[in-house]
Amino acid sequence: MREKLVAGNWKMNGGLAENAQLLEAVIAGVAGLQGVQRAVCVPFPYLHQAQRSLQGTPVAWGAENVSQYEKGAYTGEVSAAMLLDFGCRYAIVGHSERRALFGEGDGAVADKFSAAQAAGLVPVLCVGETLEEREASVTEAVVSRQLDAVIARCGVESLAKAVVAYEPVWAIGTGKVPTLEDIAEVHDFMRAELAKSHPDTAEDMRLLYGGSVKPSNAAEIFAVSNVDGGLVGGASLKAADFGGIVKAASEG
Ligand code: PEP
Repeated sequence: MREKLVAGNWKMNGGLAENAQLLEAVIAGVAGLQGVQRAVCVPFPYLHQAQRSLQGTPVAWGAENVSQYEKGAYTGEVSAAMLLDFGCRYAIVGHSERRALFGEGDGAVADKFSAAQAAGLVPVLCVGETLEEREASVTEAVVSRQLDAVIARCGVESLAKAVVAYEPVWAIGTGKVPTLEDIAEVHDFMRAELAKSHPDTAEDMRLLYGGSVKPSNAAEIFAVSNVDGGLVGGASLKAADFGGIVKAASEG
């Protein structure tokens, strides 16, 4: 049985003072909610602050990226082992902003997934199509290609211990959300494709939806078949909104 997960992605936002308030409010806002796991993924410099604030609470924390390399001469990189030093449970890999703005291709994303999982982190693998790709009706081909790169690198069973977030690129930070039917179609497709060869892995794989999730649309999105929670960007920066989304998952 997959428990729902709501994970925040703060992106490049925050500061020590505002984070302290936000973390405190997040802890209070999601206290007592049952049947849903919650986490926040924060910029690297604030992992220590997240660890200090969140340890001993039901809110887990993670990073927004991780290096594919273990250690050595990789200036500016942060390894999976370093993230573990700060108590991270999750590492987002392959976010569309990293793919589009920082040139991360499927191969690098698969290497990051591998490095994270090998170290004991739970990778949150982002997949999803651009608007052009959706209009060209290649959404399923795109998510298959992105998943296949990880399967080729790490084996299909690796998905059972990971989180996959379907994030249509055109829905991220735009306020545009696919129809519930469109969300269901992609989530059903991903699970069904995997189930053809690996039913147990398909059953265990957690599939989140991400892209303009808000308290007002969370309940209906989380009720869609094969949606196991959400990856939340903008709304995770407001404790009341994040709390509302976690509550919707808890009640779904
Ligand atoms: C994201 O960046 O992962 C995301 C889902 O952003 P937003 O919720 O702001 O669309």
